[in-house]
Amino acid sequence: MSGTVIITGAAQGIGAAIAEKLAKNGMNIAINCINEAQVESNGNQLAQKLRGYGVEAECFIADVSDFEQCRIMVDAVKERFGTIDGLVNNAGITRDGLLVRMSEEAYDSVIAVNQKSVYNMMKLVSAIMIKQRSGKIVSLSSVAGVHGNPGQFNYSASKAAIIGMTKSAAKELGSRGINVNAVAPGFIETPMTDKLTEDQKQAILSAVAMKRYGKAEEVANVVAFLMSDEASYVTGQVIEISGGLSM
Ligand code: NAP
Repeated sequence: MSGTVIITGAAQGIGAAIAEKLAKNGMNIAINCINEAQVESNGNQLAQKLRGYGVEAECFIADVSDFEQCRIMVDAVKERFGTIDGLVNNAGITRDGLLVRMSEEAYDSVIAVNQKSVYNMMKLVSAIMIKQRSGKIVSLSSVAGVHGNPGQFNYSASKAAIIGMTKSAAKELGSRGINVNAVAPGFIETPMTDKLTEDQKQAILSAVAMKRYGKAEEVANVVAFLMSDEASYVTGQVIEISGGLSM
């Protein structure tokens, strides 16, 4: 697929791997970073690397939980690249803890970043795609959203919501030539999962059929397929990328 894709939370981890894969496939990349510090620590270096694949790449700052910041970013990307052909809703956070101890703030912040951001970005970008009568949207759900996970009440809620949003948007936007899908990774080695204790990591691994953690590149490969013309008749689907966890 050619054109331009916005990837939220793309400075590191799975988002950066998706950016690299899609750049190798010839897409221009709008790298969303949460703030200037992230642009300086990771974003600029990633953009430079992506340009090495012969595409255009630039960082755009927005806290994607904030609708107005998303609106300004989407306008800036459209202005800079002319079209927006793809959206990857990747930004996400965890604030894990048992339900009885979970603060309202921990619940609300995860819902705002993981779930509201998908409303913000899908609403703004789909309006552009409807006019173009084409586009691909892929959002990062999680196996926690499909099967639940103890200690992740807030995270599981946000990731389950993404599945409902994906299916509803696929039904609304299918006739306009827009594909909307989600991926549900299991345990992928990234800065997010580095935070887990060794005991938690071993417990997860014992339930994975392939007996290893996933790599960010393995998620990026599936996202790239869904963003490609090869997946032109796939919409409203949730593909698990978990090495056989939770079958
Ligand atoms: P990560 O390494 O923590 O990367 C997430 C990125 O999103 C970070 O750069 C983060 O910035 C950014 N971000 C957070 N809040 C944001 C906001 N409000 N606006 C803009 N950017 C924001 O996580 P990851 O492991 O690559 O995960 C990427 C996605 O995959 C997430 O949606 C996650 O839930 C999902 N996922 C991951 C796994 C896994 O095992 N790793 C499994 C299933 C699903 P800061 O660093 O400043 O917070």
